[in-house]
Amino acid sequence: MKRCIPLLAILMALVCPPSPAAEPVLALKAGRVFDSRAGRVGSAQVILVEKGRISAMGPGLAIPDGATVIDLSGYTVMPGLIEAHAHLLQEHPGDEHNTLTVTKAVAMEGDPLRALRGAARARSYLEAGYTTVRDLGNAGRFADVALKRAIDEGSVPGPRLFVSGPGLAPEGGQVPNLAPGHAGLIDGDYRIVRGAEDARIAVRENVYHGADLIKIYSNSSPNRTLLSLAEMKAIVEEAHLYKLKVTAHATTDEAIERALEAGVDAIEHGYKLSDTTLRQMQRKGVFLVPTDMDVSLAEKQVRKLNMPLTREQVVGLAKPYHERLRRARDTGVTIAAGSDMYMGLGPSRGEAAKRVLFAYAEAGLGTREILQAATINNARLLDQEGLGVLAEGAHADIIAVHGNPLDELAAIERVVFVMKAGVVAKALPR
Ligand SMILES: [Zn+2]
Repeated sequence: MKRCIPLLAILMALVCPPSPAAEPVLALKAGRVFDSRAGRVGSAQVILVEKGRISAMGPGLAIPDGATVIDLSGYTVMPGLIEAHAHLLQEHPGDEHNTLTVTKAVAMEGDPLRALRGAARARSYLEAGYTTVRDLGNAGRFADVALKRAIDEGSVPGPRLFVSGPGLAPEGGQVPNLAPGHAGLIDGDYRIVRGAEDARIAVRENVYHGADLIKIYSNSSPNRTLLSLAEMKAIVEEAHLYKLKVTAHATTDEAIERALEAGVDAIEHGYKLSDTTLRQMQRKGVFLVPTDMDVSLAEKQVRKLNMPLTREQVVGLAKPYHERLRRARDTGVTIAAGSDMYMGLGPSRGEAAKRVLFAYAEAGLGTREILQAATINNARLLDQEGLGVLAEGAHADIIAVHGNPLDELAAIERVVFVMKAGVVAKALPR
């Protein structure tokens, strides 16, 4: 957020007059265009890009003299994908206790190294076609804010980040079984809240240090502790005062119900959801971010854990989650696509994160719903009108894929071109 100091602004304008050099115009010739608002793939269009935004677009639009032309006529062009639930600064090997992952990150890895490794993961997201990522904690003491700043200033490549800072959690965070003398390690990755007044202070700390949203833990699975209703209400009230959205980790119906009563804007995971709770979410306009794993990644994890499960058994385990996702959709709850991918299971982080979209397909969601969840719905979740759409005035966050993703979801695995804010991040292969 920019704070304006009028006198300083005037002086700056006098000292540094705007450069008279004309901004270069980019013209993208798109073969097909995915309209995220309508959920349709339309025919060829020309998209003009100036100063990081789409200045005009339409079929047969004249290309201005001197414009740099990028020929995407063999591809489907779509808004950059948006990830709603990432942990760029955390890596879980897939087969160890969560307490070990968190304490190693805090005590042995440390924030500078976490941020640097997070930068590599952020880059993998961008290369996979994600131009925006919402990062939800487990990022040390605001190392997520540091990474966001480094990306914004152009020091390292990566998507636009919307970061939460440390998640506001009940006693113990998500770190069970620490010996009493070592519980202080938890403060390196979570902000433990103790009472409604402390909850307000925790929000202010995150606001001060640059958080874009507030993440809370209504329940703290795999831990047993819960935030109180009074604490969650105080958090929501304080965060909304600063126009920040609040999202709640909530895996049980009870934890979700309590978070809704406190007034949160979104629910992460929502593994167990009754029809009554779903209707409440729909009524209140609360988003659901279903962080489901597709069968291919689940099988990788099962192998890592040496679990004697067949593919059919893995598919069977996913059934209740598939069913709740279809009920959520049928109730009219807005689905926002988020992977919660924090494991090292082989593919790059960005590619692994994309598998969540295939998990939605396995649950029975259509490609139109899935592509909208990963673009326009996530932009709405972030309150960002200029993201998740290709339209005049929108940010020039644009990708091109081989094939038509509405006909075949696997096309989104064939991202051949990525542009963020009008700058080419991944060029077409020659
Ligand atoms: Zn998560």
